Amino acid sequence: MARMPTSRPFRVAVVGSGPSGFYAATQLLASTDPEFEVDLYDRLPTPFGLVRAGVAPDHPKIKAVTKAFDKTAEHERFRFAGGVELGTDVSRDDLRSHYHAVVYAVGTATDRRMGIPGEDLRGSHAATEFVAWYNGHPDYSGLEFDLLNARRAAVIGNGNVAIDVARMIALAEGELATTDTADHAIEVLTAARVEEVVILGRRGPAQAAFTNPELREMGELERADVIVDPADLELDAESQAWLESEQAHRTNRLNVEILRDYAAREPQGKPMRVRFEFLVSPVEVLEGPEGHMRGLRLERNEIVDGRAKGIGEFFELECELVFRSIGYLGVPLAGIPFDERRGLIRNEGGRVVDDDGEICAGEYVTGWIKRGPSGVIGTNKKDSQDTVAKVIEDSNAGKLPEPAKEDIDALIAQAPHAVDWQGWAAIDQLEREAGEPQGRPRVKLVDWDELRQAARRGATASSRR
Ligand code: NAP
Repeated sequence: MARMPTSRPFRVAVVGSGPSGFYAATQLLASTDPEFEVDLYDRLPTPFGLVRAGVAPDHPKIKAVTKAFDKTAEHERFRFAGGVELGTDVSRDDLRSHYHAVVYAVGTATDRRMGIPGEDLRGSHAATEFVAWYNGHPDYSGLEFDLLNARRAAVIGNGNVAIDVARMIALAEGELATTDTADHAIEVLTAARVEEVVILGRRGPAQAAFTNPELREMGELERADVIVDPADLELDAESQAWLESEQAHRTNRLNVEILRDYAAREPQGKPMRVRFEFLVSPVEVLEGPEGHMRGLRLERNEIVDGRAKGIGEFFELECELVFRSIGYLGVPLAGIPFDERRGLIRNEGGRVVDDDGEICAGEYVTGWIKRGPSGVIGTNKKDSQDTVAKVIEDSNAGKLPEPAKEDIDALIAQAPHAVDWQGWAAIDQLEREAGEPQGRPRVKLVDWDELRQAARRGATASSRR
């Protein structure tokens, strides 16, 4: 379909095709007054962001959200511009000069660091990288995690990513075999010789950020016993009072109940253990031979005013691997105003603002890079609704700048390996066909060249989609 030469419908570029970007695209396309055309950009040739590269492969139900996104992609005013990187292939000015509005939905690309000595020793990793590796993200598929020579792995943090990492290491071969875990990761994970994964929380069971179903899953592992010290469930007075107060969420109370159940269990002698340890903070990653880590030095904490405070009591935990799983972090991109302190695009309720607090007309933000890396996939639906409401409000108020340029095809062609929706469909088909005989949802392509080649098979001359 040829593009409208006039400025209506309004043209919007959404940058980032994860859940927040796709929800924003869906909501923009649902608007009838005014109408929008949406071009959804992604630096990868594949869509869906963390649904493809973050959600654990043994959680296929969570990934089913892409069915709704596929419907959005069928819309006649939708186009996918995969393989186009903001800041490399197209600039912020390119987007502003071609579109009435740009919505940044770029997520939080990196991880929070612990900031302790030894953090860069071999064997010390960001959980985010491990997650991207087992999910076959082409930037991370070449990484190495030495699960063959580690007997104990530590995971720092009490969030769902920490749970995902521990569970992926603990899954039995049969449990892994039916997933879309990248082949290179299945090979390493099934050969892994880790006997214990220790999940370390700086605060106590009451303050853990796990959600209940994820914590419950730890007690249902085929190959691993779950170990919790009953002493850790004897809450300090402050935590107990907080837990009983209205400030605590039902999730916190249920987490404590689940952990109490674990503490009461007798280990069944399974080949692996997943152990929870609370009120400890790593203060150093200890160096072993050849630049490899050999353990962690930890300090015990107490809860003071809801926060973890070291009590000056230290001990060592022998472990050959550590995954810091203490949150994702946004990075500055393409000159878009950035709040360094919060690690987010500077914004007021989804409208991008510059360093002086002035609104950058026609620029918006949604998802983790707007509000921080928290919440489940569905949280982004409401977040994107709020942002899209601002786009609609501004367009109705005549506040969207008129773009100077119209040739979107030429803009996308600035990227040497741009992939349209048919290109992604070709990748998708190839992956699914490879998975079918193995009873897996797909076998992922994990290499940039392979992905581009597969996409080319589906490339079309069509300018939309
Ligand atoms: P998170 O839920 O924010 O958890 C981060 C954890 O790191 C917290 O326990 C935090 O402790 C701890 N932490 C932060 N700084 C630390 C430090 N310096 N030392 C020790 N511990 C530290 O983050 P996440 O696990 O990365 O998850 C991100 C979001 O994705 C969450 O909303 C999560 O629920 C969601 N997610 C959901 C699923 C699912 O639904 N299955 C799966 C994966 C992720 P404090 O509380 O003390 O700060």
